[in-house]
Formats: sequence, C-alpha cells, structure tokens
Amino acid sequence: MHRVWNFSAGPATLPTEVLLQVQAELLDWQGAGCGVMEMSHRGKEFTRIIAAAEADLRELIGIPADYKVLFLQGGATQQFAQVPMNLLGRGAARKSADYIVTGAWSKKAWKEAQRIAPVRLAASVEARGEAADGFTRLPRPDELDLDAQAAYLHVCTNETIHGVECHDDAALAAQLPAGVPLVADMSSHILSRPLDVRRYGLIYAGAQKNIGPSGVTLVIVREDLLGRAPADIPTVMDYQVMADNGSMLNTPPTFAIYVAGLVFQWLKRQGGLAGIQAVNRQKAALVYAAIDASQGFYRNPVAADCRSCMNIPFTLARPELDGVFLAAAEAAGLVGLKGHKSVGGMRASLYNAMPLDGVRALVDFMNDFAAKHA
Ligand SMILES: *Cc1c(COP(=O)(O)O)cnc(C)c1O
Repeated sequence: MHRVWNFSAGPATLPTEVLLQVQAELLDWQGAGCGVMEMSHRGKEFTRIIAAAEADLRELIGIPADYKVLFLQGGATQQFAQVPMNLLGRGAARKSADYIVTGAWSKKAWKEAQRIAPVRLAASVEARGEAADGFTRLPRPDELDLDAQAAYLHVCTNETIHGVECHDDAALAAQLPAGVPLVADMSSHILSRPLDVRRYGLIYAGAQKNIGPSGVTLVIVREDLLGRAPADIPTVMDYQVMADNGSMLNTPPTFAIYVAGLVFQWLKRQGGLAGIQAVNRQKAALVYAAIDASQGFYRNPVAADCRSCMNIPFTLARPELDGVFLAAAEAAGLVGLKGHKSVGGMRASLYNAMPLDGVRALVDFMNDFAAKHA
C-alpha cells in the first residue's frame, strides 16, 4: 500500500492509527457481529459510540456543562442558514445580527444569512482593485461597526481559502457589546489549539478538515440560546429539537460520528489540544520560514499576526511555473497542493493529522524547487 502526503484543504488526511482501527473494526465492531455502518442508531452499541464521542470531545476541549454538543448534518454551509434561523428570535423580539467578513467563508455566511433576514455587515477587510490580495488580515478595532442590540456577532476564526486565522479570540471577545454572543465558524481549525468555549455563544464546524469524515457537523451551543427559533422553521433545523433528541431526531451520520470519536481519542493520546498545538505551530513555522527565506520565489500575503497555522496559501513569483510545481510535487508524493481558484497558486493545509514528517518533506521539496528554478 502506498500513502501520499495529503495537503488537501478538505476532505483531508486522517490519522493513520484511526484508519487502521476503522479497518480492523469495519466488519465486526467490538464483538457486535456487524460494523458501525450497519447498526441501528438506536441500539445499545451506537448509543455507546455517540455518548463516548461526546464525552471525549467535552473532555478534550473542556466544554462547560451549560453548553450542548450537537452532531448534525448539512455541513458548515447549512449552519450559514441554521444560525440565523435559530438565533435571530421571533415576533417582537426578533433582532438583526452582525457579520465580520474576513475571507471567502465569512462572506458566504453573511450572504446566506441575508436570505433569512437583513443582517448587518459589521466590518469587511476585503481589498479591492487590481493589485488587491483579497483578504489578508483581520479588522482593527476602529474598523468595527457593531450593533449593541445584535442577536449575535458572526466571525470565521480561520479562513480556509485565504489563510487568515484569529490568534487572539480574547481580544475579539473583549470588543463585543455586552450581551451579544459571539458565533464562530471554526470548520478548519477547531481542535488545532486550546479553546475557551466560554468566549462563544455558538461554535460550529464541518468535520472534514480537523474532526473526521465529511457528513457530520459539530455545533456547540450555550443553552440559553436554544428555543429562540420561530415556530415555522423546519423541525430538523431547530437546535432545541435536536438538543432535546440527543442529535437523533432522525438518523444521524453514524459512521462519521464513530470515526470522529476515534479522532477525539487519538487527540487525547497526542497530549490533547495543547499537545497538538505545539506540533501545529512547529509545522506552520517550517512552511512560513521556507516561504520567507525564498527571496520572493514564494509569497504569502497575509499579515504576520494573522497567518493561519492550518491553511497556508502561497504563490510563485512566476505563476507560469504553477503547473510544473504541482506536477513535480505529486511525483514526489505530495498531493492536494493546488490553491483555491479564487486565490491561485498553491495551498498547503496542515491539519492535525498531517505529521511533522510530511511537512518536512514539503519544505525540502519547496527548497529544492526554488533552487532549481530561481
Ligand atoms: C470547508 C468550510 C466550510 C464549508 O463546509 P461544508 O461542510 O462543505 O459546508 C465553511 N466554512 C469554513 C471555514 C470551511 O473551511
């Protein structure tokens, strides 16, 4: 068998140990006589699996007891709609919400929310014009136009396409008007570093970057934010109903939840979130150092304090070499490096499951390629 170093932005590489355990249990999960894909979600085996996944996640992050953990479907994209459907309130108590746009994903969230209600743009850092790099930083406090009455403030704390990460969510939370909960799309960096859930009213993340296979979406929501949805929203979209039913109003994505649970156990064995953060910082530092030492051969336009540890976009000074770079990388067993079409160039995603050795192989390749083509 041959495994490549997979730098895909998502669905992304999974820990080999987890895949081997899945393989070993595929036909017979711990003596059940069938695999997880084949068992009832209401049976005692799966009840154990989902309970263990939630308990391990709570322990890993340190999720306070007054927050619910939901395992939903529909991806982060569904959350773009489900958040405003649930949190804007109803009747006379209905409010607006604020959105900060820092990249392609928060912009999509803001656009989708406008289909539900006229939400506000509290800040956008999109650079326009010919030489613009699009999104390269977070807004300064003086650029924020916050509504003190907003139902919530929505942010994306790691912009997967533009490689912009919020490294100081304490500072972000400090800017919130009193009583306005922070809602965050953490799809591409959740579990990559310690997280103080108390700073947020609601956190969501699609699984296929740092949690497990696609098909399950994690929502962590403070209990007081439940039960605010208008009565006419679809039942499956109502957080309160999903919470009341332990994410099992209907059939949940059982296999994805099972694999996510194994990833949570794997993360505990890596020293938890502090342990994995140390490795993640080391990995990202290697790639940024290679870019910055390349004398302009490679370029990453993101402001130094907002550079993502998970997704590193970079361009070549000579874009005509993009195809050569990607083909040679693939021949060297380094795949998934093509940049998003809106940014161009390359992108290396260094999620938790990408080992340090894979990043070393990438950096060696980048250095060799630059030396050869400089
Ligand atoms: C991938 C991604 C999404 C979209 O996720 P889906 O599960 O495909 O809907 C949304 N937000 C961020 C930050 C992402 O990285």
